[in-house]
Amino acid sequence: MNQVDPTFENWEEIRHSNAASCQNCGTELIENARFCDVCGYPTTGDEMDLKRYKWRSEKKEDLKGSIQKQVRVGRNVLFIVAGFNVVGAFTNFGMFSDYGMLISLLIIAACYVALARWSYKKPFAAILSGLVIYMLTQIYSGITFPETIVRGIVFKVVIVSALIRGVANARMISRKNMEAVGV
Ligand SMILES: [Zn+2]
Repeated sequence: MNQVDPTFENWEEIRHSNAASCQNCGTELIENARFCDVCGYPTTGDEMDLKRYKWRSEKKEDLKGSIQKQVRVGRNVLFIVAGFNVVGAFTNFGMFSDYGMLISLLIIAACYVALARWSYKKPFAAILSGLVIYMLTQIYSGITFPETIVRGIVFKVVIVSALIRGVANARMISRKNMEAVGV
């Protein structure tokens, strides 16, 4: 992409240059087009058009940044939950010497790590799977050991809400509908 920063300084020049392609993204322009079809850059518009364009681009960047941040938080939560599962696995083994439980908890931890890594490619599917596994293990341990439900409840709520936000934001990336989210 040959991004040209649309500054006011070079804009007057651009405006009168009768350019056949968009100064911002390089797309070929329809003759006398006021805006670029692809990026919305005001090719022959007035100063207000350029201001509006800059404002919209900034908004879009802000939104993109916040979406990426929430997805990153979701991914980090998966790594953190994996770590807690490892600690829990060995703590539990120390108390009960139950090999079955040790192996199960370590396998679940490995799943979280795999999902966190996968989330670089498929953030929506990966974080959603992590959320589902987390909910299922919580339900399972809640049924098997009811006394564990309230243990660390604030922490659990934080994890679930971070994962839900991660899933919701990853969905916007997956759908490639960045433009359609209101800016
Ligand atoms: Zn353009």
